[in-house]
Amino acid sequence: MHQTGFPKIEQLSDNPDNKPAIMISVSQAIQILKAQTAGLPAERVPLTSAPGRILAEDIVADTDLPPFDRAQMDGYAVRAADVASIPARLRIVGESAAGTGWRQEMKAGEAVRIMTGAPVPAGADAVQQVELTRETDSKGSVEILESVEVGRSIVKQAAEIKSGETVLHGGEEINAAMIATLASFGYAEVKVGRRPRVAVMATGSELVDVDQKPGQDQIRDSNNYTIAAYAVLAGATVERLPLSGDDTKELKHQIARAVETSDVLITSGGVSMGVYDFTKAALKELGAEIFFERVALRPGKPTVFARLGKTLIFGLPGNPVSVAVTFNLFAHTALRVMQGASQPTLNEETALLGRSVKGSIDRESYLPAILRTDGKGSLITEPLKWGGSSDFVAFAHATALINVPAGVKSIEAGERVRVVDLPNQRCRF
Ligand code: AMP
Ligand code: MG
Repeated sequence: MHQTGFPKIEQLSDNPDNKPAIMISVSQAIQILKAQTAGLPAERVPLTSAPGRILAEDIVADTDLPPFDRAQMDGYAVRAADVASIPARLRIVGESAAGTGWRQEMKAGEAVRIMTGAPVPAGADAVQQVELTRETDSKGSVEILESVEVGRSIVKQAAEIKSGETVLHGGEEINAAMIATLASFGYAEVKVGRRPRVAVMATGSELVDVDQKPGQDQIRDSNNYTIAAYAVLAGATVERLPLSGDDTKELKHQIARAVETSDVLITSGGVSMGVYDFTKAALKELGAEIFFERVALRPGKPTVFARLGKTLIFGLPGNPVSVAVTFNLFAHTALRVMQGASQPTLNEETALLGRSVKGSIDRESYLPAILRTDGKGSLITEPLKWGGSSDFVAFAHATALINVPAGVKSIEAGERVRVVDLPNQRCRF
């Protein structure tokens, strides 16, 4: 009988019948992993630690905003009717400063010196800015040089927010722009989704750690560091496990250890069809439930998603660019679901192709790219010139992935395409 592929090697292959597992689409894979991923319990963190975390509660205003009629300018609180004809001379009867208001009622013919952020006294209905006034020598009165309409430079109580209103929603990622809102409504602590504990484990007998000089036939591991970097950007804490050789016993031992302490285990390598690809065999022998193991994706077809005990497991392919792509489509999404994100997948947008790209007949492609704006203000995406899924140096400048649907042979320059933004903020390990 004519045989294709590697000869069947008993005991070595995890798939003795050589039956390929069913290939599912990227969107099916994302649906499955969302369905299998449970939210982690919430925890309270100080406001200073909140940026980047996912809100696990609605944020409710505990005061009106502004809490009182607030002056928007330094100047004089007046009655608009008193300054209808100008210049108008008014008697200064008091001062309202931020933090110390003037508590009496202002009457006709009177003005109160007022500062930005101070409460507007009762009886006043407008503020004239100081630049359009002149204090007379005696300081007891002020000349208003321009008329004002009722309401000028006053922000009425509750004009911005009413007490009891929901101002931010659970599931939103806290960013720096939201901090003022949290602080102003008294959230010294914020309830957020717990950070997932991620263990990363690179597999491959050719691997040495970054501080080693590779010997003959060896290479340095990069995947553990890539996954750690992206996992931190996704909000996780990361433990890097020792490298594992292509040995089912060693893999099983390490996987069993990792699932005891982590919410998610992310391995790389050893999931393709080679005779030394043992990750799936190790998972199966440990009794892991495999949800999918083949995705119609380029790069990243042999991606595995499984669970062992309570720990979710992503078995990513070994090639470094495949790792970056599959992490960001799948593991990133699961890590965000765990933290309670209402929008767990990466941001997407559309852009015009700067250069034509090729697709694949049976798989959806996610191709490394950068984004730029052209002279007319259109968002352009430039596919990077790369040598395939092992070309991590070409990938180093990628900020986005261009999506080419399965079955599309090529897309020409100038066409509109869907792009997924990579999380490339400054990161800490
Ligand atoms: P595999 O999926 O194990 O067949 O690996 C595919 C390719 O990725 C091979 O060339 C490996 O040497 C390479 N590779 C696997 N793991 C890593 C790693 N942790 N860091 C860098 N390259 C890797
Ligand atoms: Mg390998």
